[in-house]
Amino acid sequence: MHSGFFIPDIYDSHGGAVSAEATVDVLANELSTYLDTNRINQVRRAYYYAEQAHEGQMRKSGDRYITHPLAVARILAGLKLDHQSLMAAMLHDVIEDTGIPKDALSEQFGEDVAELVDGVSKLTQIEFRSRAEAQAENFQKMTLAMARDIRVILVKLADRLHNMRTLGPMPYEKRQRIANETLDIYAPIANRLGMHSICTELEDLGFSSLYPMRSKYISKAVAKLRGSHREIIDDIRGKLQEKLEERSLPGRILGREKHLNSIYNKMKFKQKSFHEIMDVYAFRIITDTEDDCYRILGAVHSLYKPLPGRFKDYIAMPKANGYQSLHTTLFGMHVNIEIQIRTEEMEHIANNGIAAHWMYKNEPSSVTSVNQSRVDRWVQGLMEMRERADDSLEFIEHVKVDLFPDEIYVFTPKGKIMELPSGATPVDFAYAIHTDIGNACVACRINRNLGSLSQPLQSGQTVEIITAPGARPNPAWLSFVVTGKARSSIRHVLKNQKRAESLDLGKTLLKKSLKGFGTSLSKIGEQQVQAVVSHNQVDSFEDLISDIGLGNRMAYLVARQLVSGSTEDEASDTASAPIMDKADNSPVTIRGTEGLLVRFASCCKPIPGDPVVGIMDSGNGMVIHSDTCSRLPEGGEGRARLTHLKWAKDIANEFSVELRVELERQRGVIAELANAVAMADGNIERINVEEQNAKLGIVSLVVHVNGRRHLARVMRRIRNIRAVTHINRVRH
Ligand code: MN
Repeated sequence: MHSGFFIPDIYDSHGGAVSAEATVDVLANELSTYLDTNRINQVRRAYYYAEQAHEGQMRKSGDRYITHPLAVARILAGLKLDHQSLMAAMLHDVIEDTGIPKDALSEQFGEDVAELVDGVSKLTQIEFRSRAEAQAENFQKMTLAMARDIRVILVKLADRLHNMRTLGPMPYEKRQRIANETLDIYAPIANRLGMHSICTELEDLGFSSLYPMRSKYISKAVAKLRGSHREIIDDIRGKLQEKLEERSLPGRILGREKHLNSIYNKMKFKQKSFHEIMDVYAFRIITDTEDDCYRILGAVHSLYKPLPGRFKDYIAMPKANGYQSLHTTLFGMHVNIEIQIRTEEMEHIANNGIAAHWMYKNEPSSVTSVNQSRVDRWVQGLMEMRERADDSLEFIEHVKVDLFPDEIYVFTPKGKIMELPSGATPVDFAYAIHTDIGNACVACRINRNLGSLSQPLQSGQTVEIITAPGARPNPAWLSFVVTGKARSSIRHVLKNQKRAESLDLGKTLLKKSLKGFGTSLSKIGEQQVQAVVSHNQVDSFEDLISDIGLGNRMAYLVARQLVSGSTEDEASDTASAPIMDKADNSPVTIRGTEGLLVRFASCCKPIPGDPVVGIMDSGNGMVIHSDTCSRLPEGGEGRARLTHLKWAKDIANEFSVELRVELERQRGVIAELANAVAMADGNIERINVEEQNAKLGIVSLVVHVNGRRHLARVMRRIRNIRAVTHINRVRH
């Protein structure tokens, strides 16, 4: 039935013209070979819906827009895909181009179809970004990772194929961009999914759009060679045919022709001349059964001598993408003859890959329970092959990201792709870029909008990290980061920070205590310092100071040891001596920026201006309370553990304070409240309507202020609201 050469699709002229004439009736007719009427009608409904949605839109070619989705659906019908894929193909540009929301589609056509359309739209959106060539690999992974359902990729490939077939009327730049993207992303994906036919057509279309002159030259040369080789090709075919007949082996013999793109790549990357590449005569023999394949192999080996080392049995050892065939190279008629031998089914799978498996899944005659999971089993097979450490490990990696989505791919603002584990947050992203970026990160934008640092990222998002000089990692990040790099970097910084801060605070407290004894650190001899260090069984004076800062030792006791020279046990006089009297005369200055080891109590929420005291919390440094706080220890001994503090003069930080507002209920009063706070330059952290009856309400507000004066201003504004009957500051 085939004469001479197997002609690849590129030499056909099917493109816009065919699809423009095709109608939904033609498609329905094609579908009737494998879908039932009900399903065909659903596909029709999707068609009419899309036709209406795209009403008035035209393609660059002048065709009505609906011709495009219809053509895409026909490509998928050729692969015998299921009705949902076909419906998605009809609707694939509806969300993107007509603004109809996903919800509307899911109401009309069900959740599955809407999800497919949404998935295709997301892939379409991603195309409009800048990218570096080296990233092609990651783009492929991202594309697969974004498509939870492999059918999204199949619809997208068909969409791309039709767009490539009808690229002509596009402006030059756009054509280049689409062709590049096709070669970098979509053709390799088709290849990975074993969809050889679509892959080679995409490659050849991409190649001839990018390099029209080179492509013209090569196809001319191919045509010329085809003529001059005709005789020898016919000769070999005849001999092969005779041999099959002689042994009564069924089989049809196809001539195989190299594709433009692959010829060009061999010339470019393998430095081979055109004639070297073309001097190979390639045939494919398609037969009935696996058994016949091996018999035919024997027959052709008896006809011509096989070249040693060139025989490959991909039937017994299929390739990772499911490809099966026997390959051998013969030497005869003074030329090399490459032969592939396979069954019809193997041929079908070699051309259509994962789509072929899909087709079997949809055979109406088949018992569904047996065939339903054919695709799943195909993937399962891939996974098993991975354990056998096949050479195409890489492919499996890529299928894996689709079916086991444990990686995500996101863009930097410059379009670089970062691979992160699923669940990764902007903080993980920041650390993945650079430790310094992570350490200084304060906020982020996700797809240009401000986002939360703790929110898990999704594939395809663009993430921008906002840093501030002097910013430091927040210990709370440890509760949500998922990457080891972020975790260990944060821990590392916090540890160093805690050490530095404990030394600062410890030194301040010790100095204050020494001052209470009327002396200072510089007046204490080195010998005395060493004696105190060894008495306290620490490694260094620094460790001792750090311990004071952490709240593990009392500054007063260390100071007294240093002063008195006594390293005797102090227990006897701590009870009687009025400690605070001695040590209290110089309060420690607090600015609110001390870091991890100075915290403000959440019970009384002190703000600058409030009289405050510090209490050491063992291992955690100092907690600052308002001096009237009920949580402070009672009695002389308890009070003795407090450090008297004063506020620095120029504090710019903000502190939160809680207010309780009683008001009469009326429309808009909460907004008025928020407005009053804003007018006084306060920020609301939290607003809660705590208690309400028909007439009265109580609102709890947490507001950021920079001190008592600021607080007074905020409270005055609130009191001025007519509906407010009472306001007071809350301290628990
Ligand atoms: Mn489209």
